[in-house]
Amino acid sequence: MNDTQYEEQPLVKTKIIATVGPASDSREMLRKLIIAGVDLFRLNFAHGKHDNLAEVVKNIHELSEELGKPIGILGDLSGPKIRLGVLPGDEIICRQNMSFRFIRGLETNHPQELTCTYESLITDLREGDPILLADGMVAMRVVEKSADGEFVECVVEREGIIRSRQGVNLPGVQLSTPCLTEKDLKDLAWGVEHGLDYIGLSFVRSADDITHLIDEIEKLNPVEPPHVVAKIEKIEAVSDIEQILKLTDAVMVARGDLGVEVDIERVPIIQKRIIHLCNQYRVPVITATQMLDSMQFNTFPTRAEASDVANAVLDGSDAVMLSGETAVGVSPLAAVSMMSRIVREAARILSSNLHSEETTSNRRLHAREVTEAVTLGAGITAEKLDADLMVTCTHEGKTAMALSKQRRTVPTVALTDRPSTARRITLYWGVTPLLTDVVDKSPQKILKYIVTYGKKLGFLSPGSQIVLISGTDWSSLGHDMLLVHEVK
Ligand code: PGA
Ligand code: MN
Repeated sequence: MNDTQYEEQPLVKTKIIATVGPASDSREMLRKLIIAGVDLFRLNFAHGKHDNLAEVVKNIHELSEELGKPIGILGDLSGPKIRLGVLPGDEIICRQNMSFRFIRGLETNHPQELTCTYESLITDLREGDPILLADGMVAMRVVEKSADGEFVECVVEREGIIRSRQGVNLPGVQLSTPCLTEKDLKDLAWGVEHGLDYIGLSFVRSADDITHLIDEIEKLNPVEPPHVVAKIEKIEAVSDIEQILKLTDAVMVARGDLGVEVDIERVPIIQKRIIHLCNQYRVPVITATQMLDSMQFNTFPTRAEASDVANAVLDGSDAVMLSGETAVGVSPLAAVSMMSRIVREAARILSSNLHSEETTSNRRLHAREVTEAVTLGAGITAEKLDADLMVTCTHEGKTAMALSKQRRTVPTVALTDRPSTARRITLYWGVTPLLTDVVDKSPQKILKYIVTYGKKLGFLSPGSQIVLISGTDWSSLGHDMLLVHEVK
């Protein structure tokens, strides 16, 4: 590790995700963003082309190695996202009570006709259904469906301007589309081939959608199956959340579309409820969208945005995400640095009682019984001693997850010899992954390694206390050893 800025902030608690886009896809910018605090990058398949994305993945992997910092990659599938077709003149002013007609096809020259990318729109819509456009700014309602099923007539209920290819949201409408489109399946195959660590699925409606995605991943026969992130942005998913949490590896509170699909005043409450449930189910959770929105255009956020980031941390998010701020904003670096500062400040007042006892949980993310018990003991011991560091070895990352969800005040380092595990841990709250083959060595060697590392980065010094969780080689129960060490 040779970058001073990264050395200044080696142990983070709440993780930072940055979306890659035209403003941030150069190697130089990616490098700066990693140093400024990005733990995981999101590739948005709704925008990027595979050619360009392959280059981005290669650069992230190389930079991660160069900087000695594991960096995860999340590939975000568009799911059944509906978009407007091309509008005549590219934009239309929709005035109150004006009528518009959705017709089949993708293009029209008629100023009061609209088209969209979803073929079954007209079939699925019923009289009285709402249609939201321009991120919810414009609202229409279906007043009539033609007898031949060739168009639906809508009336504007909230006026505003709409533009070509903007998203279309149909809250509460039963859509017949599958959760994974043809395009998603291609993007998924690409993501698996390029070794992405997480795959996000947009517009999840039920737990079945998660099963479906896991099945599709299995069909591709990957060496390391990517973990699944369920994006919660439809009311149906909010209603089925507990079933979803039993199956998914991670969750994103996708407030962008969620704020259109449900009444906006419900978004903060839904955010808090989902984060709380994720922590009970031991599922990592990302809070996303518009966190520092104005930083798309400015180099400084509003007070409300700073509060939003801090509150997402205090709610118990594992990670907070930047979208347009880093993808297309004026200064991706300013956005990441600002988020990093806010997250660190908020983390200072995070208390360990945020952790709610797991009532029920997602077994896929559980370690073996002995490991779970020793890990819990380690967390309590570390806090009781007000230790400076917890250290664990982990192969699949389950021990790291068990420690993460205890939400201890003591920072944690997870040592692993598997690059894919190290990259996955970039999403886990409070755990800093370190790639090293010291994991299979004796406790003395592990301690020597971490003390050298910690002294170099400045988070350990003589007198610091370390709580180490490891395994002995004379039993095979899992992580069966807990040791307290004082740095000389
Ligand atoms: P998107 O998802 O950016 O892919 O739409 C996040 C959201 O809707 O908040
Ligand atoms: Mn979305």
